[in-house]
Amino acid sequence: MIENLFKERKEKIRSFQQLIGKKKKLENKEAPDGLYTSCVDCQEMFLTKTLRENQYVCPRCGYHFKIGAYTRLNMVFDQGKYKELFKGMKLADPLHFPGYQEKLEKLQKKTDLEEAVVVGDGKINQVKTVVVAMDTRFLMGSMGSVVGEKITRAIEYATSHHRPLIIFTCSGGARMQEGIISLMQMAKTSAALAKHHEAGLLYISYITHPTTGGVTASFASLGDIIIAEPKALIGFAGRRVIESTIKEQLPDDFQTAEFMEKQGFVDLIVERKDMKNTIARILKMHGLEG
Ligand SMILES: [Zn+2]
Repeated sequence: MIENLFKERKEKIRSFQQLIGKKKKLENKEAPDGLYTSCVDCQEMFLTKTLRENQYVCPRCGYHFKIGAYTRLNMVFDQGKYKELFKGMKLADPLHFPGYQEKLEKLQKKTDLEEAVVVGDGKINQVKTVVVAMDTRFLMGSMGSVVGEKITRAIEYATSHHRPLIIFTCSGGARMQEGIISLMQMAKTSAALAKHHEAGLLYISYITHPTTGGVTASFASLGDIIIAEPKALIGFAGRRVIESTIKEQLPDDFQTAEFMEKQGFVDLIVERKDMKNTIARILKMHGLEG
């Protein structure tokens, strides 16, 4: 009898763990594949094809699935066409952090990525634009020296070619395996953006789920216009860290895109179906037409 009780409990725990595991697995895919996909939020099952046709947004609850950098660039550029810039940069392990190099190589094999960011040069509504997209599948999109260098080069390229720049962020922040060198990327990217700004060129920061730490504290916050996807987590330190520091409970919607819009940090929350048209409209408002 008692044994059965324990068994039941164990099974319950196991199925809960499986559910959590499944949720994590789903969240970490570039984009859902397989015949069916269940929504991370409402758990409803959909044909993956239906989800793809809906730009990876749940047709039932509107949950915006995480999408990979290449999927994002395909969605945003005209006919999904663009030239990838700054490919083939060497991996960096400046601190010789134990196991780090192997981890990076493994991730390169597992994903279609060289690092946590991809840069595309193409056209949006006929306007030549540089678009940077981060990818959480690669060490949570954290910013190490290669990510920082690639983003800096993308900004400098946009400045020297007089092009508008859009950065789609999603990141766990600075990359701990590169210590202070990853923190330096915050200053480096910000300095490059200052020059882009001085040249009178447009920069749109496009925040997607989740954007935290050093990325929030640098280029994600520096957009002339800051757009966010619905319900995206935007923050610097985590909720628990803040709550235990200030000894106060934070509101439920703390660090969501909606909360940040109320505080004036985010200018606009845009559903994915309106992403391209909104960008095109903003480019037009700034006198950029193809
Ligand atoms: Zn849903």
